[in-house]
Amino acid sequence: MANKRDFYEVLGVAKNADEAALKKAYRQLAMKYHPDKNPGDKEAEDKFKEAAEAYEVLNDADKRARYDRYGHAGVDPNMGGGGGYGPGGMSMDDIFSQFGDIFGDESPFGSFFGGAGGRSGGGQRGGQRGGNLRIKVSLTLEEISNGVTKKIKVRKQTTCDECRGSGAKDSSSVKSCNTCNGAGYVRQVRNTFLGQMATTTPCPTCGGRGQVVTSHCAKCRGAGTVEGEETLDIDIPAGVEEGMQLQMRGKGNTGPNGGPAGDLLITIEEKPHEHLQRDGQNVIYELFVNFADASLGTSEEVPTLDGKVKIKIPAGTPAGKIFRLKDKGLPSVQGYRGERGDQLIYVNVWTPKKLNDEERRLLERMRELPNFKPQPGKSDRSFFEKMRDFFK
Ligand SMILES: [Zn+2]
Ligand SMILES: [Zn+2]
Repeated sequence: MANKRDFYEVLGVAKNADEAALKKAYRQLAMKYHPDKNPGDKEAEDKFKEAAEAYEVLNDADKRARYDRYGHAGVDPNMGGGGGYGPGGMSMDDIFSQFGDIFGDESPFGSFFGGAGGRSGGGQRGGQRGGNLRIKVSLTLEEISNGVTKKIKVRKQTTCDECRGSGAKDSSSVKSCNTCNGAGYVRQVRNTFLGQMATTTPCPTCGGRGQVVTSHCAKCRGAGTVEGEETLDIDIPAGVEEGMQLQMRGKGNTGPNGGPAGDLLITIEEKPHEHLQRDGQNVIYELFVNFADASLGTSEEVPTLDGKVKIKIPAGTPAGKIFRLKDKGLPSVQGYRGERGDQLIYVNVWTPKKLNDEERRLLERMRELPNFKPQPGKSDRSFFEKMRDFFK
């Protein structure tokens, strides 16, 4: 490596290459010559380092300008020191620390870079996360209409009350881990031709807890959790629907050995309503009236989600008529502006299935009367046309 190659030549790009072209060229070379892909190959490692240095200079506008003007002497930290990669040059850590913005999440060498770049957040402490807990909650339409807090008893893994989650028999049976000196993680230093590289991994002895238990709690046998019952207050927002899933963070199973709890996943079930049927945010009620009431007009009491309401049936109401009770439906689960759906009342005219002698005589007389003969006009559109218009 007596003579340094031209940086543009190293990356195989033109003198006026832009940032994207530089990055692309460097990515390809870094992948090709990466030490993990070429173990023991000195030449590949040299090329890897060479590409890293070229990219480091050309990707920096200031350094690139100096390089363009003065050549290697303009950017070489060892200027006059004979070139090469002596002390003060790029270390392996420097190279890998660039990789975050070059490879981003697509890094093909995840663990390798992770180790070299330092473990974000340090060693993970504590046990593993507890499992999620799934329950179903059955609700009436009235509960859905207003929202409700349900008290529900669940069986789940809870913190062991004997050892308070430590899994240890007593305080004297918890010792700091010798392998990691209580840190929870171990640092391994790899010697490479480029120098030392450190990687950090959870301690294999204590599993990242930093402590070891020499004598286990008799109740939970060291797990730190036992199966138990807990009564949870579950807030259900108004407007939920069948099959919807709610999530309560940290209300699931307690993790072993002091690990964080999993989530509680609540699936909503709707109980069928005696009178009302849900259609999105609307509720539907089918009202049967007898033929005389439909012809003469009357008033009827109908059930709604908040009590009974009296409605007027005008004279001459046909079967298939739909009345609308505004805002008597359900709110949106998003809860915006407190808007509610409506209650729709479908009028159906009741046809008696059995008749006594008197009723028969009356009806036989009626059917001869002039106004009882069907004479549908333009205003008597079909039920289906009305439905279509209604939902327009
Ligand atoms: Zn340890
Ligand atoms: Zn215990």
